[in-house]
Amino acid sequence: MPSPAERHAALVHEIEAQNYRYYVLDDATLSDAEFDALMRELREIEAKHPELSSPDSPTQRVAGEARPFATKVKHAVRMFSLDNAYSLDEMKEFARRVDDGLPNGATATFTVEPKLDGASVEVVYDGGALVQASTRGDGEIGEDITVNVRTIRGVPLTIPHRGKITLRGEVLIFRKDLETLNTARLAEGLEPFANPRNAAAGAVRMLDAREVRRRPLRALFYQLVEGPTLHKTHGESLRWMADQGLPTHRREASCATFDEVVQAIAAIDRARESYPYETDGAVVKVDAYRQQDILGFTSKFPKWAIAFKFAAERARTLVREIIVQVGRTGTLTPVAVLDPVELGGTTVSRASLHNADLIAALDVRVGDYVFIQKAGEIIPQVINVDPSERHQESAPFVMPERCPACGTRVISRLRETERPELGTEAAVRCPNRVCPAQVKAAIFYFTRRFAMDIDHLGIALVEQLVDGAMVKDVADLYTLTLEQIADLERMGTKSAASVIESIQASRERTLDRLVCGLGIPQIGQVAARQVAEQAGTLETMLAWSESELREHLGAIRGFGPKMIDSVVQYVSDPANRALMEKLRALGVGRPQPRAEVVTEGPLVGASFCVTGVLSRKREDIHAELRAKGAVIHESVKKGTTYLVAGDKTGKTKLDQAKKHGTRVITEPEMETLIKGGTLPAIA
Ligand SMILES: [Zn+2]
Repeated sequence: MPSPAERHAALVHEIEAQNYRYYVLDDATLSDAEFDALMRELREIEAKHPELSSPDSPTQRVAGEARPFATKVKHAVRMFSLDNAYSLDEMKEFARRVDDGLPNGATATFTVEPKLDGASVEVVYDGGALVQASTRGDGEIGEDITVNVRTIRGVPLTIPHRGKITLRGEVLIFRKDLETLNTARLAEGLEPFANPRNAAAGAVRMLDAREVRRRPLRALFYQLVEGPTLHKTHGESLRWMADQGLPTHRREASCATFDEVVQAIAAIDRARESYPYETDGAVVKVDAYRQQDILGFTSKFPKWAIAFKFAAERARTLVREIIVQVGRTGTLTPVAVLDPVELGGTTVSRASLHNADLIAALDVRVGDYVFIQKAGEIIPQVINVDPSERHQESAPFVMPERCPACGTRVISRLRETERPELGTEAAVRCPNRVCPAQVKAAIFYFTRRFAMDIDHLGIALVEQLVDGAMVKDVADLYTLTLEQIADLERMGTKSAASVIESIQASRERTLDRLVCGLGIPQIGQVAARQVAEQAGTLETMLAWSESELREHLGAIRGFGPKMIDSVVQYVSDPANRALMEKLRALGVGRPQPRAEVVTEGPLVGASFCVTGVLSRKREDIHAELRAKGAVIHESVKKGTTYLVAGDKTGKTKLDQAKKHGTRVITEPEMETLIKGGTLPAIA
């Protein structure tokens, strides 16, 4: 027989574990009746042994008394609301502001999360216990709703972490719970709630906690506002919160580029119907706290976050045909050709089906009626098929075995999806480098505004030029003559002249535009600028040996091995080299101005090689050293002033340091130098 204290402890543990399984993992292992029996037993023990009851006991979730009045709580950090974006252009604008706000050369990574639609709350844990909860209020001061939040069974009363932390979250009601709640309300002759948000928002401020408990409230935490020194990024904090047993949405995506952000938003839009709660948008945040600090706030909003609102509108239309497009890198993408339909103020006649896996999952067939929606007014998406109107003779779509543009047999491989837990998806591509579809797409890409910005050269004209064998690659654009273009269909001499003029004017674009226009995988606008700043000219880039190229790319902040490999692979390829050589000979592209060189600072004149395992990211250390005027060496060589040796520094590096008379220092010693301090002379 266990003692009452032992049984009490076991019951508390079991009940909280069940709450966690039920409300956080959505994976209950006990029936409601079994759970109630445990609660009853716990109450009986506490009635007989009052000394066993504590504020953290599950029986104490409801204090049983109405709040006498609403106490005000001042938020430790102001609860800002987020700026909203409704279009891709506004998202681009946000990304540009982030880029401009960060130091030269710095790039941001982002987290993208579902925007939760309920009542915002702030919750404080101290010493491992839930000590306070408050409403948002006016952002500065909210109302104390600790008693009510304690009734939410998914919110743990205790967590393993002992330090003080402040969390932000949303109290909400899941769709299925709202149905149950409304059925009960109707039975009692009460008005049903119009939406989960109203039901949740009203409940958190109710004065009687017993009444609050009758609403099936949930809470999902999405931000750590106090205690973030525990982590370096928002994403880490989210994962840590989940590890603490706190309910979180567990749907964050980490995105290194703007394209990935757009895709992650679209992914949430596609999936949100299957979420247990309503989502009307996606929240995009700069991931690194340090960058958030640099960006700061406007008077109203944080500059490092934005809420993207989805367009609610949907439309139903007929799939006339499924065609397969071949992109710049040879990837085959199925596209649904639709009966034109109005959606969000524009006429939609095509929707990307992404890949064969998505088509198979949706089972979209020619002749189907489908529901389409714009993924946040960005890309029209097929959401689902209306099964009631399917023709019996329709057949599932099959990806072609040969490239529709050139007839080459396609190759398939698995690639990782946007979210690792979803596993891989099939990517099918045409391996033919001179595939006309790929050539056209690559040339069109080169002309785009973010690359060489060539006006008057649309995709239709590019297609004519390639089909007419006047252009085989982007360099051929520069040798086109007025007559050649004027002879094309629907082309007068006047418009032909503007085409030539635009092409010739693009010779004056700086190297970064040219590098971007080459379409090297993984190398977008920002990365292209960094590469261009390293090289200065196309000539230099071509003159570098592979190891020199690697060294220069390695010196760029934020350049990981994948990006370096991608550039090296591109530049080492003979066909690509020939193209770059051709462009160089044609005098395309102006030299890139060097990145601003720091000429003042405590470390001007010093060079550092940083190695081993350190307390923060190496590129962040590099950036900080550079900002103070230092030069970074990828390896220890003649003239390297300091070798910063972290844990597990290799012997070769230490030997090189000895050979070149480089002083080996620790990370704290480096921090001293960064702060402008000096190190003791070597004994
Ligand atoms: Zn092809």
